[in-house]
Amino acid sequence: MESLKEKKIKKIKKIKKDDLKILFDKLRESYTVIGPKLSQGVVVLSEAGFEDLPAGFRDYQARGTYRLTDEKAVDVFSFSNGPDSFKRFLHPPLNEIFSFRKSKKGIAIEPAAKEGRPIAFVGIRACDTWALKLYDRIFLEGPARDPSYSALRKDSLVIAVNCPHPGDNCFCSSMGTGPEVTPEVTDVADIVLSELEKSFIVEASTPAGSDILEGIAGEEATDRDLEEKRSRIESCKKAMKKSVPYGELPELIYRNLEHPRWKDTAKRDLECGNCTQVCPTCFCNSSYDLIRLSGFSQKGAELKGVRIRKWDSCFSRNFARVHGGNFRPSRRARYRQWMAHKLAYTKEQFALPGCVGCGRCITWCPAGIDITEELEALKGVR
Ligand code: SF4
Ligand code: SF4
Repeated sequence: MESLKEKKIKKIKKIKKDDLKILFDKLRESYTVIGPKLSQGVVVLSEAGFEDLPAGFRDYQARGTYRLTDEKAVDVFSFSNGPDSFKRFLHPPLNEIFSFRKSKKGIAIEPAAKEGRPIAFVGIRACDTWALKLYDRIFLEGPARDPSYSALRKDSLVIAVNCPHPGDNCFCSSMGTGPEVTPEVTDVADIVLSELEKSFIVEASTPAGSDILEGIAGEEATDRDLEEKRSRIESCKKAMKKSVPYGELPELIYRNLEHPRWKDTAKRDLECGNCTQVCPTCFCNSSYDLIRLSGFSQKGAELKGVRIRKWDSCFSRNFARVHGGNFRPSRRARYRQWMAHKLAYTKEQFALPGCVGCGRCITWCPAGIDITEELEALKGVR
């Protein structure tokens, strides 16, 4: 039988479950390690060690609902995504981009200094590796390259994990973005963990990932181990409760821009923007300058300040306000824009999906609006 080892993988080994601690400790030598941790009854991403992992916890998610219980489950990664993602670490909600100072010689601009060590993310799920790939495309490769994202992303490391269990609102399988970290995204996932019953398969797919695996003792992963990995991924796919008609996108959106459902959704929508905050692919932002006048003298005042960028959202009424009016004046138009950008325009703009099927927007919407149900409704009769 042909070996199941994928060609792209540079290094692969099997480690004991407790040896994940060695991986964490090794990472901590050179990185700020950001991993899953319990906080106020939720799994968040935070600076974390092996001892912080919510091992054996399980979350129960529904529309507008999240509950976490300690089920002492055998699998470390029995829990699924919480509201957090890499986003707030690489693209902070409020971020100083640069400072400026005006003098007689002109305006001098100084990029904001990066503080701290590079980040190693541990436990990033397949869906979020796709979201990170989209972020890289937008902020590192696109026409609006962003030095502050680049500074935070540079030298960062991603330890991704193939999900052994889906969250109740996940639909990544139908989007083709999970639950497995596939070769399309191993360029952003330096190491991929696959949890087996008694061990982890650890696969390094980049030189940085390989370096970290050096010195961590392990055994060779056998074809039987890889078979177990494969069967766990398949059972995770089968256990996924939600799906979307991915093959019909984006035409389903374009065909239905005037569908009455948009109006119906607008009646339930609170415009709170929660969905945008938790979504790992939402990247809209706005910026403003904080200006300080100082040094008054006969020569005049010295002008200096900082450019601040903050997360924004299609749901914000001011986001579409321009000189002369607002080009998305209704809630219907704002909701439609949010969904259409995710499910239609992003792919055209960046050749990557704008929704990765993580289900966070469903869980954290206080009105219980479910993107999969909204899509299904668009297929219905007008
Ligand atoms: S739109 Fe919802 S399901 Fe899709 S990536 Fe964003 S939060 Fe996840
Ligand atoms: S869809 Fe839900 S989470 Fe998003 S703005 Fe509307 S009420 Fe808030």
